[in-house]
Amino acid sequence: MISLSQFTVGQHVTKCYEDHVLNNYFEQSYPGFQEAREALFLKALDYASHHAEDHRAKQQSPDTIYRFPVVVHIVYNEAAENLDEQLIQDQINVLTRDFRRQNADTSDLRSIFLPVAADAGIEFFLADIDPDGNPTNGITRTNTSTTSFGSITSLDLVKDSTTGGKNAWPTDEYLNIWVCDLSIPLLGDAALGFAYPPIEAPNWPSELQNTQEQYEGIVVHYKVFGPNNPLATGLLSIADQGRTPVHEMGHYLGLRHIWGDAGNPLLGGVDCDPNLDDGFDDTPNAGNNSQATGCDKTKNSCGGGDPNDLPDMIENYMDYSTETCQVTFTAQQAGLMRAMVVLGRTGMADVYVNDVRIVDGKFRENGPSTNLHALEAGKSVIYPNPSAEEITITWPSNIEGRDISIYSVAGIHVASSIPQREVTTIDISSLLPGHYMVQIEFTNGIKEFIPLIKQ
Ligand SMILES: [Zn+2]
Repeated sequence: MISLSQFTVGQHVTKCYEDHVLNNYFEQSYPGFQEAREALFLKALDYASHHAEDHRAKQQSPDTIYRFPVVVHIVYNEAAENLDEQLIQDQINVLTRDFRRQNADTSDLRSIFLPVAADAGIEFFLADIDPDGNPTNGITRTNTSTTSFGSITSLDLVKDSTTGGKNAWPTDEYLNIWVCDLSIPLLGDAALGFAYPPIEAPNWPSELQNTQEQYEGIVVHYKVFGPNNPLATGLLSIADQGRTPVHEMGHYLGLRHIWGDAGNPLLGGVDCDPNLDDGFDDTPNAGNNSQATGCDKTKNSCGGGDPNDLPDMIENYMDYSTETCQVTFTAQQAGLMRAMVVLGRTGMADVYVNDVRIVDGKFRENGPSTNLHALEAGKSVIYPNPSAEEITITWPSNIEGRDISIYSVAGIHVASSIPQREVTTIDISSLLPGHYMVQIEFTNGIKEFIPLIKQ
């Protein structure tokens, strides 16, 4: 086996296969894939813009936290690839830390970007119950005779037990992560990871609808999985912070690269066409990725001499900069990912409001986290009820509220509120004590009525 220290000029690390996955592999195999991806992306952008959480601008955390159950599939050929359980747990912790903006190195973020830095309110945990209902540590281990899964023409082999890989756990219930050797045979190169973006199921090309589900998830090279992985040496030392999975999870939840996959710096390219950007206003337009320039904070690929133009945000997880300087997502990136939790990864994540888990539309004490489509449509809940001051109304994350109205028992409209998201709080302190009816109208036309007692 060639060690990375023996790499010669011309050998290369491909930080992420996303561009290839989107533009070549999938689009060629399944024409229409890009169009379907774009449709959901635009829908999520629109959803996010209508569910803007005001507190985010104040640098506060969202009230609703989404927690994804994760299964890590270790697919190993050599013993060194069979990663230690502690390293795996450390990686899951890094994912949650970075998505919650709890990373200590967030202090490295330049002050010009502080106003847009965001806690995405998304967490990850190793699943504790397997698809058969048995206890699990959320890790599978598969010994394979396949020495590498990095071939760009066969990316999904690691996801299939008949081709040397490991079948996914149901991808609409678990977030699957495959960890394997992604070195590229013969070239000595390596890819670090890739992910499939969320696609709205009805928009999938018909020939793909029955096959795509088993491929959902992210794939990461075993040498860059886990923070301070001792194997992330040589060329791979640019990715030794456990942030390749953070980047790939961003793709899994719909994010694009901040330069929009336009210019290729390795070919000397810069492309500042705003139509080839990432779709967000709060990431400065970038003309190429930052892999070649590492942590250079003077990089400004699309300035054009404008004194108001911001430099490239090399601190963003969705750039290719060295991982030691990747420290943040932005508010719009966070909003898009949270929209995708609702629209594209529907029903997968456990939902917590003020640290209380919602199951079957009811609030429960923290218990075993199995998730598994716990929330069904049409099961809104009001709490506390009775209430004297304030009520919180929540409904399944897979439907969108349009209007909330409160009626007296005489049918007189006494209050209304526009739902901000799947959790809405209403001040009822001015209502007279007595019985009321709360009407929740959803965008699909369904109305739900729940009795309310004002104390
Ligand atoms: Zn990427």
